Amino acid sequence: MKHRIPFNKPFMVGKELYYIAQAVLGGQTSGDGRFSKKCQQLLEERFCSKKVLLTTSCTSALEMAAMLCGISEGDEVILPSYTFVSTANAFYIRGAKLKFIDVRPDTLNMDEKLLEEAITERTKVIVPVHYAGVACEMDVINEIANKHSVVVVEDAAQGVNAKYKDKYLGTIGDIGTYSFHETKNFICGEGGALLTNNDPFALRSEIIREKGTNRSQFFRGQVDKYTWVDKGSSYVPSDILAAFLYAQLENMDEITARRQGIYNQYYGALQPLADRGLIELPTIPDGCESNYHMFYILLGDNDTRMALIDHLKRNGILAVFHYVPLHTSPVGQGMGYQSGMLPVTESLSERVLRLPFYYELSEAEICSVVDAIFEFFSVDRQGDL
Ligand SMILES: *Cc1c(COP(=O)(O)O)cnc(C)c1O
Repeated sequence: MKHRIPFNKPFMVGKELYYIAQAVLGGQTSGDGRFSKKCQQLLEERFCSKKVLLTTSCTSALEMAAMLCGISEGDEVILPSYTFVSTANAFYIRGAKLKFIDVRPDTLNMDEKLLEEAITERTKVIVPVHYAGVACEMDVINEIANKHSVVVVEDAAQGVNAKYKDKYLGTIGDIGTYSFHETKNFICGEGGALLTNNDPFALRSEIIREKGTNRSQFFRGQVDKYTWVDKGSSYVPSDILAAFLYAQLENMDEITARRQGIYNQYYGALQPLADRGLIELPTIPDGCESNYHMFYILLGDNDTRMALIDHLKRNGILAVFHYVPLHTSPVGQGMGYQSGMLPVTESLSERVLRLPFYYELSEAEICSVVDAIFEFFSVDRQGDL
């Protein structure tokens, strides 16, 4: 069913199609061409990262991270249960034992106070997920990781161009991963990136990404032939996609400003409902600079949420929720997890609702969404936006 106001809509802001034409006419459509290099350089400079490599998705960047960390059977990985499956699968497919911990009720991010008690001598990696583009408490997480010699892999799929204490998300841990999927802030259909400031990781990530070969070194003239030197797979995206992405990255500030406008309009307009205790609004803690990846509200319970989704649907508006907590999923239950083990995650995942949010969402459309929510609660809207 087509909605009058969809949940997400892919968009173009500038020279996307022109750059794609340039990539194709320029004679290179495979990876690591001119536009891939331009994207990587732009991200390295802007985010102060030593190494950025474009990948086919954030999922593949996370899989590369698991390989870089040398994950094998029985190694333990600590992560939130309230996340997308790829955060878990990347480590699970290499045999890791997953230790899910609960999230904070204010940001829905990994609760750093629960981290230390989850660490054992088998812990190899901690994976903070920056939900909605709002940072996890990275100082505390890094300190605990350093103390126990554990690697920090930031799942910053939703956190591109967001900051924690003046550092860009994805550059604060040992490895960071981004997504450029069409549902994220900066898009190319399917795509991602791996970031690291760690030299050995940077060197090895090039090899893992190029099917286990030293082809990148060969193209730089550092070796005289290229050959199989390590484990690896095919994680290099086409330069056609990089061309699309480069046009988006060039307009990062404009895209972020537009998203901030949408976020602020929702926030201001829905405040009266929060004041009456009917909904909760998202929190951005001090020290965090959001990239305004999404706008969610929290309802009182699951029944209210489902009824609101239906009400919005009847008004032609698609609002969605996620995630089924990974620990209560069929795979999570197979690991021995049960409902009741992570109460904050379970409660929040039943109450969260994401409102339509995309670059081209107009003020009038936001107004209709807000009107429909007020109507659902039988509350009059005082004044205009
Ligand atoms: C979107 C997302 C991913 C996966 O990104 P892809 O580029 O689609 O592989 C991973 N983790 C989180 C938290 C995400 O939101």
